[in-house]
Amino acid sequence: DKQANIIDGKAFAARLRGRIGAEVARLKAEHDLTPGLAVVLVGEDPASAVYVRNKGIQTREAGMNSFEHKLPADTKAEDLLALIARLNADPAVHGILVQLPLPDHLDSDLVINAIDPAKDVDGFTILNVGRLGTGQSAMVPCTPLGCLMMLNDRLGDLSGLNAVVVGRSNIVGKPMAQLLLGANATVTIAHSRTRDLAAVCRNADIVVAAVGRPEMIKGDWIKPGATVIDVGINRVERDGKSRLVGDVDFAGAVGHAGAITPVPGGVGPMTIACLLANTLTACCRINGLADPA
Ligand code: NDP
Repeated sequence: DKQANIIDGKAFAARLRGRIGAEVARLKAEHDLTPGLAVVLVGEDPASAVYVRNKGIQTREAGMNSFEHKLPADTKAEDLLALIARLNADPAVHGILVQLPLPDHLDSDLVINAIDPAKDVDGFTILNVGRLGTGQSAMVPCTPLGCLMMLNDRLGDLSGLNAVVVGRSNIVGKPMAQLLLGANATVTIAHSRTRDLAAVCRNADIVVAAVGRPEMIKGDWIKPGATVIDVGINRVERDGKSRLVGDVDFAGAVGHAGAITPVPGGVGPMTIACLLANTLTACCRINGLADPA
């Protein structure tokens, strides 16, 4: 049995961060510019707090400025919107990220769309979603951007390949499908109402799983040699221990796939690296400079 190549997202992300760090140093030296990322966290969600802390650490390690704004869970919408307006106007801030989910009393669509699209490093504003969908220069959501980078690295040109995206969220599934379509793949978007998901997957040269259900996609659903990108992060109890698994049954799929991302160590590290890449890109565009290489 041929074993799949395991795509090392951790090493890939480290190389990307290295390139970003070098570009940041060049911006400083040649243009006296330091990219700045503002992260806004409302409330005490423990997983969100970990993400925000890691984003801050990696932002500073790349030589960028990190501005963290922690607001209480009962923050009023008007106060959050006032903070976003200040960040929109602040020339030291090139990227603004509002950590989701927001507490229930806040309307996340309203809050996200208050971000200046030029500083919308998550790519969640309506303007950036529309730009991505129409093939115009956009800020692209970090998780799908990282997935596309790994696919391009592994496969080169994606033209004509059958790609199946399982999941249709605004954060992962839909923008992933847009990116694959833009790369000339033949794209199928599957979701909870899809009939015979196994058959849909068996036709795919590329499977991107973004479902949030542990090991739902089975090994024998994977076409021999296909490339599998597992976005899922699911915490499960196994042998009395808590561990993370993806949406793909990794042990089952590894004998079928040509290449597969592990969980952890696949898509996850690429997501934050792409946030840094987007912040650098935003800084360049806001200052009228060419996009970084
Ligand atoms: P959502 O819950 O927003 O979306 C899940 C999607 O999966 C929905 O479109 C849903 O369909 C679909 N779905 C649910 N059950 C099935 C099923 N039985 N068969 C087919 N499709 C199904 O999740 P997200 O997109 O936000 O996240 C997906 C996963 O990725 C999660 O595990 C999350 O933790 C992880 N994630 C990882 C990131 C990373 O950096 N690695 C970043 C973001 C997310 P329907 O629309 O019909 O309900």
